[in-house]
Amino acid sequence: MKRYTGKSVVEGIAVGRIYWYKKQNSKVEKTEVLDVNAETERFERAVETAKEQLAVIYEHARRNLGEDHAMIFEIHKTMLEDKNYLDTVKNVIEEGFNGEYAVSVAEEQFTEMFASMDDEYMKARVADIGDISKRLINILAGIGEDGIQTEEPVIVVAEDLTPSETVKMDKDKVLAFVTVKGSSNSHTAILARSMNLPALVNTQMELTEEMNGKMAVVDGLNGEFMIEPEEDILEEMITRKTQWTADLTGLEQLKGKENVTHDGRRINLYANIGDVNDVDAALEADAGGIGLFRSEFLYLGRNDYPSEEEQFESYKAVLEKMNGKKVIIRTLDIGADKKVDYFKLEPEENPAMGYRAIRICLDRPELFITQLRAIYRASAYGTVAIMFPMIVSVDEIIRIKEIVGQVKEQLLAEGFRMGEVELGIMVETPAAAVISDQLAKEVDFFSIGTNDLTQYTLAVDRQNQKLEGTCDTHHPAVLRLIQMTVENGHREGIWVGICGELAADTGLTHTFLDMGVDELSVSAVNVLKVRKAIRDI
Ligand code: PEP
Ligand code: MG
Repeated sequence: MKRYTGKSVVEGIAVGRIYWYKKQNSKVEKTEVLDVNAETERFERAVETAKEQLAVIYEHARRNLGEDHAMIFEIHKTMLEDKNYLDTVKNVIEEGFNGEYAVSVAEEQFTEMFASMDDEYMKARVADIGDISKRLINILAGIGEDGIQTEEPVIVVAEDLTPSETVKMDKDKVLAFVTVKGSSNSHTAILARSMNLPALVNTQMELTEEMNGKMAVVDGLNGEFMIEPEEDILEEMITRKTQWTADLTGLEQLKGKENVTHDGRRINLYANIGDVNDVDAALEADAGGIGLFRSEFLYLGRNDYPSEEEQFESYKAVLEKMNGKKVIIRTLDIGADKKVDYFKLEPEENPAMGYRAIRICLDRPELFITQLRAIYRASAYGTVAIMFPMIVSVDEIIRIKEIVGQVKEQLLAEGFRMGEVELGIMVETPAAAVISDQLAKEVDFFSIGTNDLTQYTLAVDRQNQKLEGTCDTHHPAVLRLIQMTVENGHREGIWVGICGELAADTGLTHTFLDMGVDELSVSAVNVLKVRKAIRDI
């Protein structure tokens, strides 16, 4: 057995096979293989998988784009049956090399051959050779074109995962995440939490090909990753998993109960979500509302901007599911670790302190207006509040309110129905906390984003795993800024919540209640745990 330690960011225990998720841009390695027959079989299986993928894509394209456009995928499928191409790959494998490399050799030879032909049609086949070869290499390397390719649920192991890669993964196919890099406040960790899957980051190990497919245990309670555990350890872990599930069942009894302390202090307990699929977990956990809908996740993992209509449908679906309970939608917070190619953002030295969130929205109002229109249209279907991320000045709020005013006017003129919408801001920069007395006069509520507030206050990059140990999450500077924000908000008669990960830290629940915090918004998986902490006070 091999045992590695990591930083647990989501509790729980998972037992299953390892799936090494490699980056799309990983270059093809040339390695020697000992078992040539097994490698040939692996290649043949990859060809079959590629054909299955192409059949699905063909059907999808035929229905959506028509037979003419879909035809190319039929051609690709036929090319995967080409004996010359297949034999070229197999010959290289027989020389003792890995399938990925063998495919790249065949790709090179066939590209050269087609490129040198006079016939224009044949010349154009170069791109197709590239396509089918890339598809095969990705399958062989375990790189999913859409998340991961697996029949059974697996433990996803990766050097690192970006939020875009994580959102593409089929939740039903993942048992746990283990990454070499990453930190607990990264958005990948937040996504793992919203998926309620055990996750370790900053795991001290070297990824090797042999790990792939091996049985493993992720112990998200003790921060351990065990590969090929001995029988007795496996049994012990399975017992602990059962115990863990039973403990959770204990928390289940708190469903339907109030978030109230022994001396009668009540607080709202809401859930954070990234998309409509997370709503079931929030409801299941008996959350009183959605305290943070990270709307930027609607923009991740795709190739183009979501239209007003698409966004409207998503917001409406969330509101309808929440059935009148409050849903606080945070406007687009793209940038920093949440990168989207089609935004064409220039590389920056310090992206966390760069062109992101409300700064993009105010600079590209067409984008902002599309989102605001979608939210206001959806407001007819439930109780919506909107909050704006990364605010640092009163001036920003004034500009936002002008745009919001125009959007509402336009929608009214177009005959749309709208509900009452509270407008609030995230207090997640030290600037916002320090001038919260002024900001409170302009908005209906504050929601404190402790993830960013901590990184900017302590000058600790939330993505940097090396600083994980040095970062005191209970630092008095952060706690004082929270206290100050609550006091300033209350002085102006507005409510103040916390939606950063610190809201789920039960070591601080008592402190937050003493400070007068009105609402805590946490991942669905933590709702009942926090309810218990409140009720124990
Ligand atoms: C925060 O910064 O605390 C927050 C809730 O927003 P995000 O984690 O999405 O940056
Ligand atoms: Mg933030």
